Amino acid sequence: MRSIAVLGSTGSIGRQALEVIASHGDRFRACALAANSSIDVLASQANKLRPAVLSVGKREYVERLAGALDYEPRIVWGADGLRACAIESGADRLLAATDGMAAWRAVFAATRAGIDVALSNKEIIVAAGDLLIADAARAGARVLPVDSEHSAVFQCLQGERSDDVASVVLTASGGPFWDCSFDEMRHASPAQAMRHPTWVMGAKNSIDSATLMNKGLEVIEASRLFGLSGKQIEVVVHRESIVHAFVLFRDGSVKSQLASPDMRVPIGFALAYPQRLPSGPGAEPTRRAIGLGGRATTLAFEPVDDARFPCLRLAYDALARGGTYPAVLSAANEEAGRAYLAGKIQLTDIAALVAGALEAHESHIVSEEAVADADRWARAHAHAAILAAAH
Ligand code: MG
Repeated sequence: MRSIAVLGSTGSIGRQALEVIASHGDRFRACALAANSSIDVLASQANKLRPAVLSVGKREYVERLAGALDYEPRIVWGADGLRACAIESGADRLLAATDGMAAWRAVFAATRAGIDVALSNKEIIVAAGDLLIADAARAGARVLPVDSEHSAVFQCLQGERSDDVASVVLTASGGPFWDCSFDEMRHASPAQAMRHPTWVMGAKNSIDSATLMNKGLEVIEASRLFGLSGKQIEVVVHRESIVHAFVLFRDGSVKSQLASPDMRVPIGFALAYPQRLPSGPGAEPTRRAIGLGGRATTLAFEPVDDARFPCLRLAYDALARGGTYPAVLSAANEEAGRAYLAGKIQLTDIAALVAGALEAHESHIVSEEAVADADRWARAHAHAAILAAAH
């Protein structure tokens, strides 16, 4: 029986992870759940799974949560709460499915304590990935990718030597605006941007997918997870979202992983690793997509259009420049995305805001404090630019 602590249990990934945990009750047990402000959802999850530790975003939620529970777990709040869930709940594996940098100290604490981390959160590994991977290696903890493309690469690399890898290719769905002109994207409403063609996701991920910054963050994430340079990571658009990544080997072989676009597949792989679960969702759509449904099919791949999707190039630039540039890219993008959702800027302004922050930033050698400083600096810089744009 493996004890799992879930940070971000009420978000899109967290809810799907709890489905996986509940449907494999002979293997997994939820020992801790952390949510920010969705207290009613957290209460119903807790009453069902009965974890011993719960965490909420603010002190004022503690009493409300306790009143909605039919048992008496330990309830903690804020950064201490995330930390308690990660390292004081007896977890064998931590699923980090929070947005942004909220849980980064808790994730570091877990890896330092030798606890395996299934990482869904992109921002933490983008901003501080080298530190995280080095810490995990020192403590003998694994960082297991949950992102579908990285899970695909990780699955292709099982049994392989990293020296044999020439490059990896991440697939991108293209998001809701792949067929739109730049001008149509400029006037796109948040509701349109949230309408993702193949994946069900939270707001942050949906906006990042619409600008393709999501893929940019994933390029940096792949670099950290698999020890690759930016030149060894390519992106192709694949609208069907059936092939999640390719790994090209030096001997000319290419491996890929296919699955229907359902996050419960990579979540299940990360929670069960090094085993595979005996059952999972969505085998039938994948069978049909590869021509086993009784009719001919095709899977299509096309290059990314940098002119309409400048965010991807910004991410490659931040990766190549190194230091605290990736932290600035991620934080400025998060603030710009929030401003877009609040109606303060247009979708196409996001890239310009991020580019401005990267231009103005003076990079530092990466340490936890340097990353925290760069994060704060980038948010303040983005806020000032958003205010200036509004006047
Ligand atoms: Mg992904």
